Amino acid sequence: MSILSLAQLPVTDLKGVGAALEQKLQKLDIQNLQDLLFHLPSRYQDRTRVIPIGSLRPGDEGVIEGEVKGTDIAMGRRRSMVCRLQDGTGTITLRFFHFSAAQKNNLKSGVRIRCFGEVRTGASGLEIYHPEYRRVDESVISPVEESLTPIYPTTEGVNQARLRMLTEAALGYLEAGSLTELIPEPLRQQWRLPPLNDAVKYLHRPPVEADQEQLLDGLHPAQRRLAFEELLAHHLSLQKLRNRTRQQGAPLLTSTGQYCQPFLEQLPFPLTGAQQRVAAEISADLSQPYPMLRLVQGDVGSGKTVVAALAALQAVEGGFQAAVMAPTEILAEQHYINFSTWLEPLGLKVAWLAGKLKGKKRQAQLEMIADGSAQIVVGTHALFQDEVSFANLGLVVVDEQHRFGVHQRLALREKGRQDKRSPHQLIMTATPIPRTLTMSAYADLDCSVIDELPPGRTPVNTVVISDQRRAEVVQRVQDACHQGRQVYWVCTLIEESEALQCQAAEVTAEELREALSELRIGLIHGRMKPAEKAEIMASYKAAELDLLVATTVIEVGVDVPNASVMIIENPERLGLAQLHQLRGRVGRGSVESFCLLMYHAPLSQQGRERLAVMRETTDGFRIAEKDLELRGPGEVLGTRQTGMMSFKVADLQRDADLLTRVKQVAGQVAEDVELTDAIIQRWLGRDEQYATV
Ligand code: ADP
Ligand code: MG
Repeated sequence: MSILSLAQLPVTDLKGVGAALEQKLQKLDIQNLQDLLFHLPSRYQDRTRVIPIGSLRPGDEGVIEGEVKGTDIAMGRRRSMVCRLQDGTGTITLRFFHFSAAQKNNLKSGVRIRCFGEVRTGASGLEIYHPEYRRVDESVISPVEESLTPIYPTTEGVNQARLRMLTEAALGYLEAGSLTELIPEPLRQQWRLPPLNDAVKYLHRPPVEADQEQLLDGLHPAQRRLAFEELLAHHLSLQKLRNRTRQQGAPLLTSTGQYCQPFLEQLPFPLTGAQQRVAAEISADLSQPYPMLRLVQGDVGSGKTVVAALAALQAVEGGFQAAVMAPTEILAEQHYINFSTWLEPLGLKVAWLAGKLKGKKRQAQLEMIADGSAQIVVGTHALFQDEVSFANLGLVVVDEQHRFGVHQRLALREKGRQDKRSPHQLIMTATPIPRTLTMSAYADLDCSVIDELPPGRTPVNTVVISDQRRAEVVQRVQDACHQGRQVYWVCTLIEESEALQCQAAEVTAEELREALSELRIGLIHGRMKPAEKAEIMASYKAAELDLLVATTVIEVGVDVPNASVMIIENPERLGLAQLHQLRGRVGRGSVESFCLLMYHAPLSQQGRERLAVMRETTDGFRIAEKDLELRGPGEVLGTRQTGMMSFKVADLQRDADLLTRVKQVAGQVAEDVELTDAIIQRWLGRDEQYATV
């Protein structure tokens, strides 16, 4: 198949495009003619007819034509030039805040002009501010546009007129048929997808009768056609990545039960059904000769750690090491404590590595890892530095990977690779990921869900309360502590600045110490040294503190079963997923737990809606779906994760219904390597290397 494509023709092939313009176009991610054609208008203007002035309403945008009835300077709050324009049906005011004497002269009474602009209600009734205008001659009929006028996303130095000219030229090439149709005809028929060339042409120059509303919503079949192909390209690219990993060998980790059995017997509880199911899925993966890539989603408190431990033990049974990585020192340390308490009685050695570990101690751990005397290694990112070499790494467990970017996730696969063999990889996350996103951003992973909480948990009672009732809240905290409960008080700030957040937490801690002088109050925030944080967390865990004032650093994973009340200040500023994570810190024991969402009045409509979701459900998946609906995938996944998720045309949420079809078509074309590569190349082109780090 030949794909002499427009992608091979640089924009500089167009008349009038030199190095300077080429550079500016790069800012719009436009390097070649195909890029130019995939740079779609964000909206359209209708300049296809002249509208009678008398029929205009505020908000209308369009072409009008009439005779100037006088132009004056109006004083008022801001000096402006006011021009009255009249046609046979009515009058309207054109207002200019920036104008020259020459302009005023040109707009003399009796002059005929044609204008384009948006109608609004101004000081003199209907007005248009700064319309585009030009003089017309009454004796000649000036032509109107034949198609809707595209409005493109622009950048400095590249205006609409220029983009229109460039796309016009690129569309000329299209006539020659050089934008190759990549979706095979029978599939296009089957899924009713219009031909690519038609779709592109339509979107750049829609006919007069086009449904503008549908276009604006991105729901036109032509837009869907492009979105479909783009989603397909992403899907195929992830599939390719996954196939490539599959072709790598992996250590065979056969389960013997040698360690898993005694481990399960010594646990003070039986596994839940969901834990058993997921553990079995992992166990089956580990005994395959290619690397496992599995994402385990389980709500906070669903017991992911035990499942990870079982996987690690199977690696050890198979004669390999397992590494367990957490995103923060607090979490890594908690895992270290769990794993060593569980596993050392079985005769296993657990090594520990974090940034704060220095000197001889660090050296000792590094040696245990390198010579294989430690079978399990727990730590932070420190585990993946060059100085760390594993004797024989068979499994990598990444906990709470939402804190790690897609990039890191992919890079990790390379670490620990030996003789073309890659370690198995297990990723655990407490942030439920809506199905739409697992089908796209995570299409390279298998997914398991721990959809059941251990028995005996009472769901957290969530109360939404205004901060005008702060005194009552403080009273409630006092009562709870007197009953022997422990309380979290979480401070948030709208500013991203960590410094300000920490400052707010300090102030709050001070205030609470004054108000509740008999309580033991601790403070933890992101600017404290890791050792300091660990110490505070440890004393809270040991119930030496009644109340812990914190920033959102406690969000992930920290487990203190006796903590049963949480106050969250300004919850309206946090994403739902984050609130859900925070709330998951309570409700881990058997006493009834409370979460007080203390908002700052007044709440916006959306704010009210969001907090209502928190009050109504503790189901992480429902919350995640709602979050996606309210905030979009970029926010839900975290910006660092969207590297692979920047789409030119598609919108994960709007086009979610296409994903099932995309998956089917991906299966139908997968055999054809050349075609698959062409589709990926067209949409990911320059970005594909990124996906294969
Ligand atoms: P998460 O999924 O949030 O990481 P953890 O693994 O930290 O959850 O488990 C939360 C708590 O539940 C821990 O104290 C753990 O010992 C306990 N736990 C885990 N599995 C069970 C179970 N099957 N029955 C009872 N308690 C369990
Ligand atoms: Mg956990």
